Amino acid sequence: MTDYTIHLDPKKMPDAWYNILPDLPVPFPPPLHPVTHEPITPDALSMLFPPGLIEQEVSPQREISIPGEIMDVYRLWRPTPLRRAYRLEKLLGTPAKIYYKNESVSPSGSHKLNTSVAQAYYNKVSGINQLTTETGAGQWGSALSIACRMFDMECTVYMVRVSFEQKPYRRSLMQTFGAKVISSPSDTTEFGRKILAEQPDTTGSLGIAISEAIEVAIKSNGKVKYSLGSVLNHVLLHQSIIGLEAKAQLESVGDYPDVVIGCVGGGSNYAGITFPFVPDKLQKGKHIDFIAVEPTACPTMTRGPYAYDYGDTGKMTPLLKQYTLGHNFIPPGIHAGGLRYHGVATLVALLVKEGVMRAVAVHQNPVFRACLMFAQTEGIVPAPESGHAIRVAIDEALKCKESGESKTILFNLSGHGHFDMTAYDAYLSGKLEDYELEDTVLKSAEKCIPKW
Ligand SMILES: *Cc1c(COP(=O)(O)O)cnc(C)c1O
Repeated sequence: MTDYTIHLDPKKMPDAWYNILPDLPVPFPPPLHPVTHEPITPDALSMLFPPGLIEQEVSPQREISIPGEIMDVYRLWRPTPLRRAYRLEKLLGTPAKIYYKNESVSPSGSHKLNTSVAQAYYNKVSGINQLTTETGAGQWGSALSIACRMFDMECTVYMVRVSFEQKPYRRSLMQTFGAKVISSPSDTTEFGRKILAEQPDTTGSLGIAISEAIEVAIKSNGKVKYSLGSVLNHVLLHQSIIGLEAKAQLESVGDYPDVVIGCVGGGSNYAGITFPFVPDKLQKGKHIDFIAVEPTACPTMTRGPYAYDYGDTGKMTPLLKQYTLGHNFIPPGIHAGGLRYHGVATLVALLVKEGVMRAVAVHQNPVFRACLMFAQTEGIVPAPESGHAIRVAIDEALKCKESGESKTILFNLSGHGHFDMTAYDAYLSGKLEDYELEDTVLKSAEKCIPKW
């Protein structure tokens, strides 16, 4: 009998997150005030976030224990299974061992619930009963809606107009959990009204929706807080549970990864699977190839400059050091909605910059070919975002086939693709386009990156 799945005993689920801040090879570049360009004090973040999360944003502690109330909700679907992809290996004829961590088994279908539950909890214990956020494809909005319901809180989601119109089922999912979903840009905020007056036919963007959600929190006199699904240190911290579990699971079968792979939108699931292995590379000299995968249509790390930039179009967020295509960049309409962000988490950018990790970009047609190979061997329809990680895992396994090496490859399956069948449909009917952005397009997009 083949043991496909490596389960972790629920009693051995990690009870602390891993914080990479004390283990960085260079100092963390601080977020800067959007107007004065001075490092911001944690205090300045208190309009948006509760004290528990602000502490985590700057914590020097390597381990941060997970409160019991959060563990209780995590137990609804965690520990998640680690799978050995025997059938995919066989199809490829590779001597490599391929493992994947299956985050698609969460109630929202992706890794995002790992942080939404924690964020709802820290808000609740500080007396907050209402959260606002933005959502692009709908995955983050779904995750926050579920988390808010678990802690009996209200949730308002600004959903990018094009998704609001094209993805009615994601909208219904959020409403099922009691969230209020508003098409962005909307007339409920000053910034939304300004955009609507200037560009009434806009499809909206994540940058615009973030500005709207932040405005609501700022103008609420402390009643409403804002919640972000990726990019920030505390979000990456919460996602470390993925890699911590995977490490324990691999250890239980006497294995250790040579290659660790994840797809990158803002960088949170990638950080989640990789960061717990980083000290082994930096301090113990282990050779691990960490690969961050992004789409060629939104080539943040492979082609963007390393610079301070805003997180949103309305320039309301602090300036964050990152790779960026410019906060006004609106990427082509590729089908991995979760990977269309103009920037990336400071922590991931720093480790790529320092050469601890490397970034690669892949086209969407080869990604969908990989998605089909995976679905047809492993029986799971992956999210197009996760397909980026699968593509590179397959490419690495094929390199092993050529060289005869038997490497251990680990990747994160960030979510399932059950709400993405329109994308599969486009691929199957041959309508999917590959985008190679011209340098002139990128150069003009980068013009908005602030210089001082
Ligand atoms: C949101 C999302 C991503 C991208 O976000 P990260 O913060 O980079 O992890 C990737 N995969 C899935 C399934 C998502 O929902």
